[in-house]
Amino acid sequence: MQEWEAESPLIIAKGKGTYLIDTEGRKYLDGTSSIWVNIHGHRHSRLDRALTTQLRQIAHSTFLGLSNPPAIRLARELIRLAPKGLRRVFYSDNGSTAVEVALKMAVQYWQQRQPSAGSKQSFLHLKLAYHGDTVGAVSVGNIELFHARFKALLFPTVQVDPPYCYRCPLSLTYPACHMACLDPLETLLKTRHRDLAGVILEPLVQAAAGMLTAPPGYLTRVRELCTKYHVLLIADEVATGFGRTGKMFACQHEGVTPDLMAISKGLTGGYMPLAATLATEEIYRAFLGRYEDWKTFFHGHSYTGNPLGCAVALANLDTFRREKTLVHVRQQTKLLARLLRPMASLQHVGDIRQCGFMVGIELVQDRQTRQPYPLEQRIGHRVAQACRVAGLLLRPLGNVIALVPPLSTKPRELTTMVAILHQAIVDQTEGKTSLL
Ligand SMILES: *Cc1c(COP(=O)(O)O)cnc(C)c1O
Repeated sequence: MQEWEAESPLIIAKGKGTYLIDTEGRKYLDGTSSIWVNIHGHRHSRLDRALTTQLRQIAHSTFLGLSNPPAIRLARELIRLAPKGLRRVFYSDNGSTAVEVALKMAVQYWQQRQPSAGSKQSFLHLKLAYHGDTVGAVSVGNIELFHARFKALLFPTVQVDPPYCYRCPLSLTYPACHMACLDPLETLLKTRHRDLAGVILEPLVQAAAGMLTAPPGYLTRVRELCTKYHVLLIADEVATGFGRTGKMFACQHEGVTPDLMAISKGLTGGYMPLAATLATEEIYRAFLGRYEDWKTFFHGHSYTGNPLGCAVALANLDTFRREKTLVHVRQQTKLLARLLRPMASLQHVGDIRQCGFMVGIELVQDRQTRQPYPLEQRIGHRVAQACRVAGLLLRPLGNVIALVPPLSTKPRELTTMVAILHQAIVDQTEGKTSLL
């Protein structure tokens, strides 16, 4: 806060399309999609209209014991679009709560299914995972800087190394490695499955860890192992959902259906806080019973199923259809890859990772040894500040520059974003201005 105050904070007053406009009237390209939530741009007429139309009906009524038309319609749409087999929707209001719901549901499911397996109460997750900032979500996460101080509050978990190929913990190379990093996962499932309720992971991309992309087939193999050892697979699609990776959900790249799936960020196109946890029919049925069987899932939030959020989420999904957003993203993904290519030869760019419209550029002090920059040098922050001066807003993940444009970003805007970023990296890492 001390430094932020000294840096003259940026106050965003307005937005339009891919641009944010501050209180001084300066325009910036939104290179983070307002932290990975925006899909079709700011002030999209269809999404704006959906909100004002719903406002004329009602802004909010509780979802506890009641329902509302936009929430019902949205649940139906989500089931239609989700990986096949996910049949039930439980609403909440942000990504962290969607994860909390999945964890609690998994634990209660094992107690109530027939035959019951009440000993299954722990979770296995990947190191460097990020699943949100509430205490349960932090427990299954593992980003030292965010989490270390709260160790005393967290429940114990089982962890394995993630598929971070650029810094492979086994010093192997894909595909020759045959994904040997999955061996410890299988060993733990084999020995611990009686205690394990679920495996939670971010499918395809560990986003907050620095856009770590998993090799093809990794997710499929985790699904197979979870099935084999009777452990639920919980997919956290909060960042990867809603077209971000080029498919509606990342799991669909590998035809995988998780048992539980958490969604939020892109759900409302970046308009309103809303989230959901999707479950299979099998899980849903374990919660049915007479009142005195006490099978209720005791979890609800004041703004669960908020009609404004659900109405704008419906308009968001409708816009995917009308504007063929997924086709656009897949085309622009290729352009983005082409634009990024020259960056790969920069002296301090170690690795460029891309999955659809999620990009992570890992800066290193030394390309040969892959020596990272010391965090206190704040190289990512310095690059982001240089981009800001040139009219592009980014938010780094440590030494990784994350570029996550709205899915509607136009080719020329993508070109401008990458040009600004390229120049900023050169200036901040090579300490001189190069000709672009
Ligand atoms: C952002 C994020 C969350 C947390 O969502 P919030 O809405 O910020 O609580 C959880 N999981 C992943 C993968 C995320 O990227």
